[in-house]
Amino acid sequence: MVTTPVILKPLVLLWVLLGVWGCATNPVTGKSELSFISESTEISIGEQQYLTSQQSQGGKYLVDQNLNDYVSEVGNRLAAVSDRALPYEFVVLNESTPNAWALPGGKIAVNRGLLLALNNEAELAAVLGHEIVHSAARHGAQAMQRGTLLQGAILATSIAAKDSEFSNYIVGAAELGSQLVSLRYGREKELESDAHGIKYMLRAGYDPHAAITLQETFVAMSDAKKTGWLEGLFSSHPPSVERVNANRQSVSALEIRHDIETGQQRYAQHLAYLRSVESAYVSYDRAQFLIEEQEFASALKALQHAQDIEPKEARFYGTMGDVYRLQLQHRKAKTAYDQALALDENFYEYYLGRGLSNAKLGNAAAAKSDLSKSNELLPTAVAMSELGTLALTERKKGVAKQYFKAAMNAGGDLGRKARFEYLKLDLPENPSNYILAQAKISNGHLGANLINKSGLTIAQVSVRFTALSNGKLVSRTVKINQLQRSASVNSGWQVPDNFSFEDVSLTVLSARL
Ligand SMILES: [Zn+2]
Repeated sequence: MVTTPVILKPLVLLWVLLGVWGCATNPVTGKSELSFISESTEISIGEQQYLTSQQSQGGKYLVDQNLNDYVSEVGNRLAAVSDRALPYEFVVLNESTPNAWALPGGKIAVNRGLLLALNNEAELAAVLGHEIVHSAARHGAQAMQRGTLLQGAILATSIAAKDSEFSNYIVGAAELGSQLVSLRYGREKELESDAHGIKYMLRAGYDPHAAITLQETFVAMSDAKKTGWLEGLFSSHPPSVERVNANRQSVSALEIRHDIETGQQRYAQHLAYLRSVESAYVSYDRAQFLIEEQEFASALKALQHAQDIEPKEARFYGTMGDVYRLQLQHRKAKTAYDQALALDENFYEYYLGRGLSNAKLGNAAAAKSDLSKSNELLPTAVAMSELGTLALTERKKGVAKQYFKAAMNAGGDLGRKARFEYLKLDLPENPSNYILAQAKISNGHLGANLINKSGLTIAQVSVRFTALSNGKLVSRTVKINQLQRSASVNSGWQVPDNFSFEDVSLTVLSARL
């Protein structure tokens, strides 16, 4: 399915070998704990993964920059009273699934869909305070230390942003971010984040009761099993009556000041614009559903409706591009992607979609440029495979091999196809990497067992036997047309009495798929 991120294991090993680890006091809980990921490493992981994680989770919500500024203000108000100084950053993502996440080092995101579900600024503070604790209390770093991310790899990619047909195909270093943002920290850490988040709320002057009403809303919505909710927030932050009660207890243990606020009016003001165009996003979400059902005409209608309400939203044009592309109307698709990019030139999906359409239209140079740009924003197996195919048409085998190699670790059909293309190129060059040849004697003749390690049927295998016979080197080449799992071949050479296997060497000369 998905390979484990290769960067983690050697790094952890290296830290252990260098002795760069020991005990440290957790800045939030005050407890002593094992710590071999330094603060500077935490911060640099957060910085490296922040942009690609935003891309994989819907991209930045651009239409209302004031909303982004507002969420940052609330976040910074809490960060200022947190137990740990970090380069905190907050962003609103263009995704309807109600979710929020934090990377190590204080890089935090909240989805447009979650903002719409909140009643006041104090509830937003409860969400952001909770995420701040995940970063401040090193929950992500601890998960990396325990190596839980390695097992979490498959899970993480399966709950990437639901809106994207590509997000299951993230490859390379960005895989780490996609694991971190969809990490399940476990019951204990969630309760810890709630408890300390509530403390921060009060310190920042927010009514901590909002942490209770927030969880109550979540439980009610989870009971109603609203689609999207289950896939989003609830996959990484399971709501429970236990959390409601725990928060109620935390709040009742506090000495409530009199100058606290819920910021209800301020929240309503800042959400006013998004709420005024909410029906456009409802129509857009409906279009996503219709695309999955392959009801393309209805999907286009729903997207047109969304555009009529909110003409500044790039996503509505980009998704129209996707529909046209799925309908093989690549010229129309390209125009729609152009419109999307004119509104937002920093979202990988529009470049990826336009690149795929350009490739179909025979615009190889434009396709390459789009697909490379898409990979810069978020490397995907889809773009890698297409770039591999384009390199093959230019007879750049080495380049093609690299792209297919990058794509073949992805899941599903796409990964399998990329692996097939890679093997087709690599097998003729390195046949002995795929075929194990072991010498044997049968009926007095020198032969060999050939074992095919590729998992695919290999054709036109030729194996050279070289042996020392009476002080003379003799060699014979044997060919077989098809090698499935294994085969036995005979060199036809009768071995002398004093034969030793040390005198024989076998070379797989050539093979192909
Ligand atoms: Zn959490």
